[in-house]
Amino acid sequence: MHVVQIRKQFAFESAHVLPFHAGKCSRLHGHSYRLDVTVEGPLQTEGPATGMVIDFDELSRVVRATIIDKLDHTHLNDTIENPTSENIIVWIWRRLAPQLPGLAELTLWETATACAVLRPGDPLLS
Ligand SMILES: [Zn+2]
Repeated sequence: MHVVQIRKQFAFESAHVLPFHAGKCSRLHGHSYRLDVTVEGPLQTEGPATGMVIDFDELSRVVRATIIDKLDHTHLNDTIENPTSENIIVWIWRRLAPQLPGLAELTLWETATACAVLRPGDPLLS
């Protein structure tokens, strides 16, 4: 049985304030976030997703309904306390994992060069 990882990239744009930050991040500003969602599992052997871990269309539907629609064009502090990349990615994982069997990794890009990565078993999730 083959176990494969698939990954799809999503984007949302949000404002935030980091109230504890000593520098400019304590001022209201925004980011064009990118979210990479990785799912792993065996290839399905029957039905319309035969040969797939999960249909990319189904993955998109779940991530959009659960995450993107909730965060895009919002002020993140209204939803997530102290919304650092680390706190945002934990919030995303807790919402997404119950809806997405095989969730293997999340990567949240706050800028083109700065990201947070979360995998199952991270102490932040317990
Ligand atoms: Zn920021």
